[in-house]
Amino acid sequence: MKVLKFGGTSVGSAQRMKEVAKLITDGEQKIVVLSAMSGTTNTLVEISDYLYKKNPEGANEIINRLEAKYKQHVNELYSTDEYKQKTQEFIKAQFDYIRSYTKDIFTLFEEKVILAQGELISTSMVTNYLQEQGVNAILLPALEFMRTDKNSEPDPVYIKEKLAAQLEIHPDAEIYITQGFICRNAYGEIDNLQRGGSDYTASLIGAAVNASEIQIWTDIDGMHDNDPRIVDKTSPVRHLHFEEAAELAYFGAKILHPTCVQPAKYANIPVRLLNTMEPTAPGTLISNDTEKGKIKAVAAKDNITAIKIKSSRMLLAHGFLRKVFEIFESYQTSIDMICTSEVGVSVSIDNTKHLNEILDDLKKYGTVTVDQDMCIICVVGDLEWENVGFEAKALDAMRDIPVRMISFGGSNYNISFLIREEDKKKALQSLSDHLFNNK
Ligand code: ADP
Ligand code: ASP
Ligand code: MG
Repeated sequence: MKVLKFGGTSVGSAQRMKEVAKLITDGEQKIVVLSAMSGTTNTLVEISDYLYKKNPEGANEIINRLEAKYKQHVNELYSTDEYKQKTQEFIKAQFDYIRSYTKDIFTLFEEKVILAQGELISTSMVTNYLQEQGVNAILLPALEFMRTDKNSEPDPVYIKEKLAAQLEIHPDAEIYITQGFICRNAYGEIDNLQRGGSDYTASLIGAAVNASEIQIWTDIDGMHDNDPRIVDKTSPVRHLHFEEAAELAYFGAKILHPTCVQPAKYANIPVRLLNTMEPTAPGTLISNDTEKGKIKAVAAKDNITAIKIKSSRMLLAHGFLRKVFEIFESYQTSIDMICTSEVGVSVSIDNTKHLNEILDDLKKYGTVTVDQDMCIICVVGDLEWENVGFEAKALDAMRDIPVRMISFGGSNYNISFLIREEDKKKALQSLSDHLFNNK
């Protein structure tokens, strides 16, 4: 069985929902995971913000506006009065429920319940639509099987067992629709898998039912070998290893949520990224297969800060790096790139919230230099150290660009360069020419 996930934009209007319905009704049994209609989760966050700030009028105004939008979607989606009425009643009940939270104290617990409504509504709308069209579609309630444990990590044993039980209730359904993102926590309370978590739901469900494939349908045109907004002549990447996708996820979380990759990878289930706007395009397949000696993609991340700590006295002493890392850890700042020499260490970070405190603390251990407005360029592919020539090719492409750091050997799948943001376009174009267009 396949698991298909459609993101917010793919179900963002009545018309888009109809197109999703067309795409999924091919006679094959499948599980379909849906996000909330685009913009809805953000609006629910906004409603919660008003309630945290004890402004129920502000919240009510937004609730009413959102409800009105949904009324319109329902009118556009269904052709029969029966389904229009049935769905309007459901949506009214959900919004009345949201309104009931404007009257009392508001905590994280209540916020989670409000955030869950987007997916609860979108899945009901699509299930009702399919049923109106005569499709044997069943709504699987994610809150009955999707669960996290005491560490807020998904509980795969529970998920597998409870999902199987839900599927058994309707063994002959053609399409099972379920909510992405939402779950219950170890205490049975409504919770979620963090923003963008519907991809994670799809991956967890895929692993739980041992799916033949997990498809992530989005409105973005798959993965390209370089950034199509910056570089001309990019090509779609047809195939990626899970590790390559994980390297790229940091740069393109909009395409695939980083944690999503893990359950599918462990269960060895291929993940296919597909474009709802161009459903016949082959998309990008992510699996455990490596394409020998092939460079797949180049990606960039802006707003990076490089920090160098130089200390001829301390570096060779035991525990120097530990002390440096502890400083970053104590300010919950994660380090992305690291380069060391005998007398110094350079690291890069993207979260500068505590930069000043970090710099103050680092000065105890050496001379500290900071470079801001930097950019990580990441070259991803089969970069196993025994393959020769690829590092040289990538370095050659960077020959006219000042490079602040180079990182290679951290994994078998990447080389990263830290350069100035202003050189990004030139670097991406040059890497594209050297690695993909054989210039
Ligand atoms: P889509 O396929 O339309 O991107 P998603 O379900 O992946 O749908 O995302 C829904 C919306 O949530 C998107 O519009 C995106 O901007 C937003 N989103 C995704 N991931 C995150 C995140 N980590 N933080 C905040 N918003 C996010
Ligand atoms: N609707 C949620 C969000 O916007 C989850 C998702 O779409 O993946 O973050
Ligand atoms: Mg997404």
